Amino acid sequence: MNDKAYNPFEAAQTQCDEIAEVLGLETATRDFLREPMREYQFSIPVHMDDGKMKIFRGFRVQHNLARGPGKGGIRFHPQETIDTIRALSMWMTWKCAVVDIPLGGSKGGVICDPHNLSAREQEQICRGWVRQIARDVGPYLDVPAPDVMTNAQMMLWMLDEFEAIHGGKYPGFITGKPISVGGSQGRKEATGYGVIFTVREALKELNLKPENTSTSVQGFGNVAQFAIQLYNQMGGKVVCVSCWDQKENQANSFYKKDGIDLDELLKITDPFGGIEKDKARDLGYEILSGDAWIEQDVDILIPAALENQITTDTVDKISKSVKLIAEGANGPTTPKADKILKEKGIFVIPDFLANAGGVTCSYFEQVQSNMNYYWSKDEVFGKLDEKMTSAFISVSEFAQKRKLHMRDAAYTIAISRVAQACRDRGWV
Ligand code: NAD
Repeated sequence: MNDKAYNPFEAAQTQCDEIAEVLGLETATRDFLREPMREYQFSIPVHMDDGKMKIFRGFRVQHNLARGPGKGGIRFHPQETIDTIRALSMWMTWKCAVVDIPLGGSKGGVICDPHNLSAREQEQICRGWVRQIARDVGPYLDVPAPDVMTNAQMMLWMLDEFEAIHGGKYPGFITGKPISVGGSQGRKEATGYGVIFTVREALKELNLKPENTSTSVQGFGNVAQFAIQLYNQMGGKVVCVSCWDQKENQANSFYKKDGIDLDELLKITDPFGGIEKDKARDLGYEILSGDAWIEQDVDILIPAALENQITTDTVDKISKSVKLIAEGANGPTTPKADKILKEKGIFVIPDFLANAGGVTCSYFEQVQSNMNYYWSKDEVFGKLDEKMTSAFISVSEFAQKRKLHMRDAAYTIAISRVAQACRDRGWV
């Protein structure tokens, strides 16, 4: 099978099976962990603007709630499938476990394309999704959040519907809310900053000082922009970024030998993380192919755009100078390419550890909302740094002790924590 086309749920189950084998888990525990505990699939009827009724298909999958309430986003996507949501809910379980926050893993979605829906129709889908599932989610049961093509406004409609159904105020039901209505400070920076907290710790292990390193980044959206900001503050130099060009329907890379200027590039970037090519050229950037980000002679690569980018086709383009890859995106490396990275001896901070800053800050939002008492930005960043750093150190110490690569060590820690919680509850 080509390593670019695979079923994400089968891939997630294979990973789970492999680690279960290493851990010697009993059959019942393996069977329990490789499938979601509960799945909901439902129809959402919507009166469209043209007066017709349309039925949308909605999902919520609760993979494992042994360690606490479920946590996971809701995606709106025309090609959404139940298998994608199953896989993402399982990955949420491992992500919450590896950073040791007391939450389980869930994910939800609706098959739709918000580009073709009016604001009123989007609101009806959000409220309809909540009406179908309101009794099976909640601040102490399962807490949704935004994901692909959903946003803070949609979270607020969903909260409003949930509160109308349950007759009370439950700001902890959902995260990713606007700051003015119970959102957390620092959420927009959290994922990118979290990536760099783990990069900082990895560089200590590699005996490298951030100010003596250079980096190339795939993507220039939310994760990439804040990762670059903090890395620059630590003295690091980003020489290349890439992004998608809507007009040309292709990706481009933007290179500057002495380092990109983040503020200057942000001024010519659209809200979707697309950089205006002609303006960048005028500012002295070299415009390279979309793949060029991976070929740079740098110390660090940060894929922060899409899944399946480091594949058997691209992995050999990685320069010998690269010592560290921090996976900002979800699933940027295919399993086959990952084996090759191991052979090359590149230190990889796996996605569900590197990009866990986002869910950690969502957890902080849930805690603040449940208390109805909110922290300052500095307090949020301090707590985020502490969580990410201690998660990184636990994984890295375990990897050294057991002579494992970081990804395998992170999976082993996460799966054994969840298995233990299931055993302690008497579920397996
Ligand atoms: P975003 O939509 O803000 O930015 C995506 C960026 O990738 C844009 O700059 C876009 O132009 C670029 N891009 C798209 N296709 C590309 C291509 N073929 N080549 C190069 N660049 C391309 O998204 P984001 O929120 O920054 O998320 C990026 C990744 O991080 C995703 O995999 C997402 O699932 C993951 N992630 C995000 C968060 C979060 O809190 N935002 C949390 C965890 C994981």
